[in-house]
Amino acid sequence: MRIQTKHYINGAFVESTGTEVLDVINPATEEVIGKISNGTAEDVDRAVQAAKEAFPAFSQTTKEERIELLNNIAHEYEKRKKEFIDTVTEELGAPLHLSERSHYNMGLAHFREAAKQLETFEFEEIRGNSVIRKEPIGVSGLITPWNFPTNQTTTKLSSAFAAGCTVVLKPSELTPYSAIMLTEIFEKAGLPKGVFNLVNGTGQTVGNAITSHPDVEFISFTGSGETGKIISKNAANTIKKVALELGGKSPLIVLPDFDIEIAVKLAVANVVFNCGQMCTAASRTLVPKDKVEQFIELAVKRLERYPVGDPRDPGSALGPVISQQQFDRVQGYIQKGIEEGARVVAGGLGKPEGLEKGYYVKPTIFADVTNDMTIAQEEIFGPVMSIITYETVDEAIEIANDTIYGLSAYVLGEDKATIEKVAHSIRAGQVNINGAIADYSIPFGGVKQSGIGREWGDYGINEYLEIKSIIGIY
Ligand code: ADP
Repeated sequence: MRIQTKHYINGAFVESTGTEVLDVINPATEEVIGKISNGTAEDVDRAVQAAKEAFPAFSQTTKEERIELLNNIAHEYEKRKKEFIDTVTEELGAPLHLSERSHYNMGLAHFREAAKQLETFEFEEIRGNSVIRKEPIGVSGLITPWNFPTNQTTTKLSSAFAAGCTVVLKPSELTPYSAIMLTEIFEKAGLPKGVFNLVNGTGQTVGNAITSHPDVEFISFTGSGETGKIISKNAANTIKKVALELGGKSPLIVLPDFDIEIAVKLAVANVVFNCGQMCTAASRTLVPKDKVEQFIELAVKRLERYPVGDPRDPGSALGPVISQQQFDRVQGYIQKGIEEGARVVAGGLGKPEGLEKGYYVKPTIFADVTNDMTIAQEEIFGPVMSIITYETVDEAIEIANDTIYGLSAYVLGEDKATIEKVAHSIRAGQVNINGAIADYSIPFGGVKQSGIGREWGDYGINEYLEIKSIIGIY
């Protein structure tokens, strides 16, 4: 049993000022695996004060000192590889291979990338008689979701530390243990006290206290659109800068000249990744009308290569979804898809056979989806593909953009001019061509209701910096 009912404030694990304790559940077994505190506004206030006191010194550290710190963190992180993999699998339900290949590696990569970026990062620019300085913004409140417990936390933390900001982190109450491991790593790596503070608990208590605290200057949030709106409103009362990484309903456009088998392979792999619990999931698959039956047939077959099961079993490609609530949500959308006239060609309602315990869902493919259906407009956050047909490339672009979201898009094609036209026409923060893999310096974030701001690499560091003009210094 993982019991950690303390918060980490000013360089030490300390008791909560509250008494409420939250259960943490393993989604594969539905069993309680540990307990954390539901922190209070008073805990948050203590954490913010610690971060505020640590800020003047930390904000003045040199680039070289912070590079060393980030490298030390990466080094300590690597030492705990096996434990990270086990922890992510236990709290999130991700299959072990995914916990290693994706979750563990992403967490590490952000620290390494931030250190690398700092080497060449310019904090000052001389323009005429002036100096334009980039200075750390101040105490930053970081609020993260459960779907990538290492990636979501480390992209924010690495950028904040690289910039010279001190922080208060509230990880998701559903997956707090990766963040607790990070805390121990920061301590080992020699992060000065007060630079990093962790307060566990729910959004309503701890999250709300962070976003409304007058001494927090910046909020970086990843999570749902509804929570993003609440956070923005709260933060507005004290004019905080806010970065939001919210939902998506990303299109994957298979252009007419692209190999259909490769398209199926990429489309299916994307939709099942992390059990579909990914804001960048390519949940709308746009296929030329004359190729759709072939696409469906191949996709249904392809899906068989992704067995659902115990995340500790090496044979499982998908584990459970995170919670009963998430299970119900996915079921609700599948039901809605059926009611609105979409055709289930794989998966469907209910749990996969033999998996009654645990929040397992059936990876599902819908055909005959039109873009006005609920399943094409709302984020499901489960392994559900909606196949939509188009007749011309212009129509595909129109469908792709007919959404409140704009996080990512995927284009599969051969003709460079057409790919470019589509990539330039889609309103999204990221367009991926032919399944290319990006490095960790590439900015990540959305437009429209997918969010505000960018994370990863130098763009991520910039979010934690404010601009000061010193005029007449030369
Ligand atoms: P999801 O659970 O789908 O990832 P949420 O937006 O509910 O999305 O949660 C993301 C993070 O936001 C979690 O850490 C959660 O505790 C936190 N959170 C939820 N509600 C609030 C709120 N009102 N204020 C601040 N943080 C919140």
